[in-house]
Amino acid sequence: MQLSLRGLAWFSLYLTITLVPAFVALAADPFALPRSGFVEASVALAFIAFPLLLAQFALVSRLRALSAGFGTDVLMQFHRQMGIVALAFVVLHVLLLAGRGASWPTLDPFSGSWAMRSGAIALWSTLLIVASSVVRRRVRLRYEAWQVIHLAAAITIVIAASAHIVAIAGYSRAASVRGAVIGYGAVALALATWYRVARPLTLMRRPWRVVANRDEGASTRTLCVRPEGHDGMTFTAGQFAWLLTGRSPLLAQQHPLSMSSSAAPNDEHAIDFTIKALGDWSANEVPALVPGSRVWVDGPFGAFTEGRQPAQGLVLVAGGIGISPMRSILRTLRDRGDVRPVLLFYAANDASRTVFGDELRSLERSLNLTLVYVFEHANGEWRGERGRITESVLRRHLPHHFKRFQYFVCGPGGMMDATERLLIGIGVPRRLINTERFDLV
Ligand SMILES: Cc1cc2nc3c(=O)[nH]c(=O)nc-3n(C[C@H](O)[C@H](O)[C@H](O)COP(=O)(O)OP(=O)(O)OC[C@H]3O[C@@H](n4cnc5c(N)ncnc54)[C@H](O)[C@@H]3O)c2cc1C
Repeated sequence: MQLSLRGLAWFSLYLTITLVPAFVALAADPFALPRSGFVEASVALAFIAFPLLLAQFALVSRLRALSAGFGTDVLMQFHRQMGIVALAFVVLHVLLLAGRGASWPTLDPFSGSWAMRSGAIALWSTLLIVASSVVRRRVRLRYEAWQVIHLAAAITIVIAASAHIVAIAGYSRAASVRGAVIGYGAVALALATWYRVARPLTLMRRPWRVVANRDEGASTRTLCVRPEGHDGMTFTAGQFAWLLTGRSPLLAQQHPLSMSSSAAPNDEHAIDFTIKALGDWSANEVPALVPGSRVWVDGPFGAFTEGRQPAQGLVLVAGGIGISPMRSILRTLRDRGDVRPVLLFYAANDASRTVFGDELRSLERSLNLTLVYVFEHANGEWRGERGRITESVLRRHLPHHFKRFQYFVCGPGGMMDATERLLIGIGVPRRLINTERFDLV
C-alpha cells in the first residue's frame, strides 16, 4: 500500500475512534425533553475529548505498524498536539456548563458528589499532563520523573473520566453509551498494560549481551550487542530500537537509540548503537556496560528509512550524534553495492566533536559518497565549510538534479528545523525529506 493511502487509512480509523462515542450517544438519546444548547454543546465536547484522550495510549504504545507508517517523531508530535486539543475541549466543556450556572466548587476533587469529583480529577490530571510536558525542560524535571507523572496521570484520566461519564447518568443512562465508555477505558488500560508490563515480560526471554563498548571520542561510545539464544532482530537502515538496561526488563531504563550498524544480515546478528553522553544514563551507565553485560532490545521502530520513495541518490544531513543512523544507512548501501550518489553533510562545532572520521573516509572510497564537513567554530587551517548549513552551503555541493534525491535530516532540533526550511525553500519536495528527532519530549 502507498504511504499516503496507508496514512489516509490510519487517519480515517483515528477519526472513527474519536467520533464513535458521540454518535453512540446521539443514537441512544435517552432524554425525554430537549435540553439547553449550552449543555448539549458541552456534552458533545466531552464525548469527543474522552476518546481523544484515550486514543493517546495507542499513539505511544509502540504499535509497530503505526510507527512504520508515520515515523515516531511525527506520532509524538501528533500525540502532543492532540493532548492540547483534548485539554482545550475539556476546559470548554467545563466553561460551557459554568456559563449556564454550574458552580465553580464542582472543580474541587475533594468535595461534592463522586460524579462531580471524578470529573474534577480528570480535568486536573489532564492539566497536569499537559503542563508538566510543556515545562519539563524549563523546570529541569528529570525525564524519568516526568515519565512516572505522565503515566500515573494518564491512567487516572482513564479511570476518572470513565467514572464521571457513567456516574453523571446523562447520556450514559443508555446501556450502549455505558458500554462504549467502559469499552474505551478498558482498551486504553489494556494498551498501557501491554507496553508497560506484557511487552517487557516478552523481552525477558530474548536477552542480548554486550560484546564491545568502544570509545569513539567526542563523548561518544559505540555499543555492539549480540542476541543470546535467539535470532535477534532485522531492521531497515535508519530505524531505532529501545535499549533496556538494568536488572530486568520490567525495572529497566528504556532509551530510544538508532541502530548505527549495517542493516545487512551478519552471521552473528550483532547490532551497534552509537551513544552520546548527554545525561545520567548515557554518561554514567553506558560506559559501565562492559562486555558480557546483559541488555534487552525492543524494536525496530521508525520510518526514517531509505527506499520508501524512488530516488536517484541520497542526501544525508547530520548534526552531532545525528551521524548515528547515517552510519547505518551508509554501511547498508555499501554492503548491498549501491552505486547511487550519496552526499553527507556532517555539521559539528569543530573537528574534535565528530566521530567515525577514518570510517567515513574509507566509505568515500567504497561508495559514490561525497563528504562535506561543516564546522561552526573551525580553526584557521580548516579549508572546508564554516558556520552553519546555509542555502549557499547546500547549493555549492548539491548536484543539479537534487530535486530527485531523497533527504535524511537528523540532529539538534534547531538545526533540523532550519535545514527543512532551507530544503523546501530551494524546491526539494516535502515528501522526499525524512527527519528523525532525538528529543521526543
Ligand atoms: C528515535 C530516537 C533515536 C535516538 N537515537 C540516538 C542515538 O542513536 N544516539 C544517541 O546518543 N541518542 C539517541 N537518541 C537520544 C537518546 O535517547 C537520549 O539521548 C538518551 O535517552 C538520553 O538519556 P540520558 O538519561 O542520558 O539523558 P537525559 O539528560 O536524562 O535526557 C536527555 C534528553 O533525552 C531524552 N530522553 C531521556 N531519557 C529518555 C527515555 N528513556 N526515552 C526517551 N527519551 C529520553 C529527553 O528528551 C531528555 O531531555 C535518540 C532518541 C530518539 C527519540
